[in-house]
Amino acid sequence: MFLRSLLEKVDKFDPSKAPVVNDRVGKTDVVVGEMTPELIKLYGVISEEGTALAELGTSLMAKTEELGKNITGAQLDQFSAEYGIARDRFTALQKLLWAEIKDAFPALGGHEQVGIREGFKLVIINDAKCNCPSCMAARILGIIG
Ligand SMILES: [Zn+2]
Repeated sequence: MFLRSLLEKVDKFDPSKAPVVNDRVGKTDVVVGEMTPELIKLYGVISEEGTALAELGTSLMAKTEELGKNITGAQLDQFSAEYGIARDRFTALQKLLWAEIKDAFPALGGHEQVGIREGFKLVIINDAKCNCPSCMAARILGIIG
């Protein structure tokens, strides 16, 4: 089960090795908190999975080109299945990451437009019509319009 190996990878991951987020907090972003080291570890592992998925895509493309006209239907099906499984797994992991983040930061719940900014700050993005306590406080403070 990849779920079990995910937990093992998260436990071992050094949070200082997670990819740095460079996006600054924007004028219309509402900061609700900072990711905990455990969430940063999960984010780091899932980022590595994203890199691995991109590399798999590149390598399957190269194999397909190498085989050229000699590629068989069975080989194409195999490549497509291999990539499809990896892509579905990555999509599930991305959803899991946001579910874990929202579980730890309920203020993000109910918002579709959320993001991670510099310093692993978690933000609600430009939600000027929302009446939840975070968005209302941000409007009172003049952070969002
Ligand atoms: Zn809101």
